[in-house]
Amino acid sequence: MTHRSESVLREAVCEVGRRMYARNLVAATDGNISVRLDDDRYLCTPSAVSKGYMKPEDLVIADGAGGKIAGGGKVTTEFTTHLAAYEARPDMAAVVHAHPPKALALSVAGYTMEDCVLPEVVYALGGVPTAPYATPATPEGAAAIRDLIGHCDAVMMDRHGSITLGVDVFDAYFKLEKLEHAAETLLLARLFGEPRRLEPSEVDKLLAVRETYGVSGKPFRPTDA
Ligand SMILES: [Zn+2]
Repeated sequence: MTHRSESVLREAVCEVGRRMYARNLVAATDGNISVRLDDDRYLCTPSAVSKGYMKPEDLVIADGAGGKIAGGGKVTTEFTTHLAAYEARPDMAAVVHAHPPKALALSVAGYTMEDCVLPEVVYALGGVPTAPYATPATPEGAAAIRDLIGHCDAVMMDRHGSITLGVDVFDAYFKLEKLEHAAETLLLARLFGEPRRLEPSEVDKLLAVRETYGVSGKPFRPTDA
């Protein structure tokens, strides 16, 4: 990783942080972002810093055990959850964790986003499973997502927030946007009745189109986990 490309990644992480904060996908100092630099180094957001106001030099570099290699702040407490995702998905290079309020509202009310309802979401993400509740900022998060994250690029952590993976930090961020937009549509649909699921044959066709166009990452299907 050259110095220049690391500085580009630092700018990208800060830009994603600003967008997450501006779009109400996180509040105050919530959420965290990381990018894989190489086999054992990760650029990540420090704890207790608003994602809306980060400067490139605020970011820290952590190793694969969660220890700090460089930077002034503390490694985010959720980094162990990110590490579980990187371990399960060597094909992915970025992890974004947020508290998207509409997706979270569905989770709090006990609804899952696992059903394939919206074709655009099936195309981009497949289904979005929900991991069991885990105490935030503890290693429980890593244990909760480990079984699911090998099968999908986006997962809801029950009553806590989202984890999205990407081939780069914008890819992971766009999956977060997509997830929250889908949640908003599902909430609106629930005003009028029960959302209608896509027929399995239609889901198969979408997944085939996805493959044709080489969409990155894995599509989750409820039968995967
Ligand atoms: Zn969180």
